[in-house]
Amino acid sequence: RAKRRGRHQVCFYRESIAAAMSRADRLRNELPRAIARGELYVVYQPVVEAKSGELVSAEALVRWRHKEFGELSPGEFLPVAEEARLMPAITRRVMEQAIASLAAWRESGLSLTISLNISAQDCQLYGDLVDDLSRAVAEHGVKPEDVEIELTEQSLMEHAAEDLVRSLCQRGFRIALDDFGTGYASLAYLQRFQVTRIKIDRSYVARLYTNEYYERLIRAVMALAGELGLEVTAEGVETAEQEALLRAIGVNRLQGFRYGRPVTASALQEVAAGHTDPL
Ligand code: C2E
Ligand code: MG
Ligand code: MG
Ligand code: MG
Repeated sequence: RAKRRGRHQVCFYRESIAAAMSRADRLRNELPRAIARGELYVVYQPVVEAKSGELVSAEALVRWRHKEFGELSPGEFLPVAEEARLMPAITRRVMEQAIASLAAWRESGLSLTISLNISAQDCQLYGDLVDDLSRAVAEHGVKPEDVEIELTEQSLMEHAAEDLVRSLCQRGFRIALDDFGTGYASLAYLQRFQVTRIKIDRSYVARLYTNEYYERLIRAVMALAGELGLEVTAEGVETAEQEALLRAIGVNRLQGFRYGRPVTASALQEVAAGHTDPL
């Protein structure tokens, strides 16, 4: 009887600790096991060609299906992962899932490309990144040219970034500079890192109609990209007005809720096949 009550007390004690812990503390405690158990998964956001409106690519974005908190967004748990130095473990799984999805789409006749996000911490700690990615591509029979790696200005400032980007390019992967305009990278980075695409941060797109300055800024980025032979994607496109203006400015690709929210690999395939309306 004493033993039973003891066990009950232990259980009660554990629950009260869980209840007293902040949500951030819990995520910190639970993330390593969540990664190992496969609670992290990947969703894909459509990217369309501005001229034709055709679906041409998808960006892989990580999510955490938490048993109590539901679907968690990267904004909430990636800072926790950074702190615990778990970004490489996450990136490895995202890469594997995303390359498998790319192969599945291609097998079903959907000729998309894919983009993957790499963090500054991956540049620092994930020494086998290029090997793992190359192996995944080879195993699934897809071409490195169909895989674009998105790095932020912050990532490019890492010491190891230059070697990493060079070997990605040598193996045929494409390089995009993500969240362009939010960091401190110098223009020289564009050439030094063999960037092939700029992704204009959605904060600029959001301000397009609030201030004429932002329209001129995006025109200037287009002129720069034209001189350097780079393609440009605008992120965070939500309205018809933004789309019309970005198309008139000559932005190559558009991404945003207007074309679809991030969805599972099979849902994206259905959207592409026209079986369901975009989400
Ligand atoms: P990002 O790479 O710039 O990805 C675009 C983010 O903007 C996504 O948020 C997407 O859902 C959101 N977004 C897209 N269209 C719209 C729109 O029209 N309006 C608004 N308000 N938002 C839009 P998400 O999925 O929450 O990801 C946030 C950030 O987390 C990403 O920004 C990226 O920096 C990071 N991230 C996501 N997945 C990964 C990953 O697998 N690895 C790494 N290293 N970072 C990731
Ligand atoms: Mg991105
Ligand atoms: Mg971005
Ligand atoms: Mg971002």
